Amino acid sequence: MKFRILTLFPEQFIGFMETSIIGKAVEKNVIAIDTIQIRDYSKDKHRKVDDYPFGGGAGMVMAVQPLRDALKSIERVQNSRVIYMSPRGATLNHEKVVELAKLDELILVCGHYEGVDQRFIDAYVDEELSIGDYVLTGGELAAMVVIDSVSRMIDSVLNNNTSAEEESFAMDLLEYPQYTRPSEIDGAVVPEILMSGNHGEIAKWRYEQSILITKTRRPDLFEKYKNKPHEKSVLKLLKKYL
Ligand code: SAM
Repeated sequence: MKFRILTLFPEQFIGFMETSIIGKAVEKNVIAIDTIQIRDYSKDKHRKVDDYPFGGGAGMVMAVQPLRDALKSIERVQNSRVIYMSPRGATLNHEKVVELAKLDELILVCGHYEGVDQRFIDAYVDEELSIGDYVLTGGELAAMVVIDSVSRMIDSVLNNNTSAEEESFAMDLLEYPQYTRPSEIDGAVVPEILMSGNHGEIAKWRYEQSILITKTRRPDLFEKYKNKPHEKSVLKLLKKYL
């Protein structure tokens, strides 16, 4: 998977793409992350990328020309999508992450100031995506959220292939509580079942914990989960919580 980022601040991505799981995935060539400095494509003699908004109002608007030319500089692969990170977009969620992970290339456009000229969005953007109902100063953090969450869905990015499947949202359930050593600290102990070695009972306990946590914290998700088709054995356990 190739991630191309159109940004005015490529340096923000350095730590992100060189460390931890994302850094390793880049090193192993499982994913590629390229930043494209929008300013390098400005035809203005002062390398300006923004201008005043027509109609007046606060702030500046990113102009079409540098964005368009930066985008056109990319040699696109076939299964590619252009996404403008924007508070006006649909909110990113697990389903969207899974959908995006099936593409071969994601081009993420990071806005700044008051945003970008609508004509660029109309002509070149396939989709607008938000990471939540709040406003960031720029699209860079939002793009990193997309890259991070999508990369985790790509085979061999995570060490343990099953861990993405078991995490929160993967099954429309939130994850069960996790514990590590020591088995007791400051008087707090690990639930005995987790140290029993009985994998069947452990799986059952974890499943029931997931149900309880989801039902309490995210009734909307639980409702969705409840209405899915379930195997008989699962249904038997689930019935206790309906
Ligand atoms: N004037 C815009 C508005 O009210 O919708 C906000 C512009 S914001 C200050 C600058 C840039 O940050 C946006 O163009 C977008 O790329 C990015 N951004 C801000 N909030 C975001 C969010 N919740 N999700 C994704 N991108 C966001």
